[in-house]
Amino acid sequence: MRIGVIGAGQLGQMLGTAARGLGHECVFLDPGADPPARTAGPVVQAPFDDRVALAILAEKCDVVTYEFENVPVDALSDIADLTPIHPPLDALRQAQDRLTEKQLFDRLQISLPDYRSIDSAADLRAAAEQIGLPLVVKTRRFGYDGKGQYVLRDLADIDTALEALGGSGLIAEQWVAFDCEVSAIGVRSIAGDVATYCLTQNEHAEGILRVSRAPVMDDQLTSKARAYMQRLLEELDSVGVLALELFVVGEDLLANEFAPRVHNSGHWTIEGAATSQFENLILAVTGERPGPTTTIGFAGMINLIGEIPDTARDAALAQTRAALHDYGKTPRPGRKLGHITVTAETDDARDRMLGEIRQSVTDSTLPAGTRT
Ligand code: AMP
Repeated sequence: MRIGVIGAGQLGQMLGTAARGLGHECVFLDPGADPPARTAGPVVQAPFDDRVALAILAEKCDVVTYEFENVPVDALSDIADLTPIHPPLDALRQAQDRLTEKQLFDRLQISLPDYRSIDSAADLRAAAEQIGLPLVVKTRRFGYDGKGQYVLRDLADIDTALEALGGSGLIAEQWVAFDCEVSAIGVRSIAGDVATYCLTQNEHAEGILRVSRAPVMDDQLTSKARAYMQRLLEELDSVGVLALELFVVGEDLLANEFAPRVHNSGHWTIEGAATSQFENLILAVTGERPGPTTTIGFAGMINLIGEIPDTARDAALAQTRAALHDYGKTPRPGRKLGHITVTAETDDARDRMLGEIRQSVTDSTLPAGTRT
């Protein structure tokens, strides 16, 4: 089948590679001149809301999916009559607005940090009184990788927070002193079969994912996350992959956000699971049942951000069970340029390998203050 993909970044690149392996072809739509996914299929170079380009893509393809969240839903709605779009646009619509996202979690009895909708200084003051400080104030729309956020620690900073974030269309949420952050990744087929991967533990710095480790060896947390994932996928009547980011507090899991797409924290599944998240998305949108999501030993992933130093390439080459993925992007501070995955028989061996590779990237890719 031919699969149209909105966006041609690294997620598109990995999707296109997975599609080829399964005998399908991806065609991408992206305004970029030289996007990473060009190595994995043809790219139609046009803005994401270009109605003509979208219509051509829909006509050429059997199904359309997307690899990032800030896809213009209205423009995509116009082609929904021409070709199936998976996951459904309603899932995308709800994920694009942090308020509707949180209301969905509430409705599905998925635990989450206390939050309020904020449109004025009075709203923020009331939220601070009711929830307490610190509060994380976030723009409802277009935030990613920690952008569009302000941690309010003092009532005197209310005006500064609102100025920084545009004054309205915000949410304020309880600051969670979490034990760690994890993500759950699940997939649902057109027939409604659901498969979930093990939980992944994630380390962020400056709002950007740095390191992932899987599996999280906690049965209670795993079964809670599975139940949440099942509820979300079914409620949204979703087809394809969905990722749910959560905070771990003791034995509780608090939902932070979800994305109806393949996810950075699932990159380890290429080498570390029987079927990768990318293969499972392709299987789902082409009408197949999910492939097995079982892990192959213990996996870890390090994002390469800002530059890919030669030391990182050497460190990956030195390990037999390490794989370097270079997205072919032009280096720029803060930009995700690639990642390294390691797999091992034990979690200790995995952590040792991660530690060695991390040494080779610490100076360049980890921000000051988080260097180890
Ligand atoms: P987000 O864009 O919502 O995924 O936030 C980026 C990162 O900021 C998260 O991965 C957390 O590390 C941190 N963060 C976001 N919201 C909260 C919160 N309510 N409490 C503590 N940390 C948070």
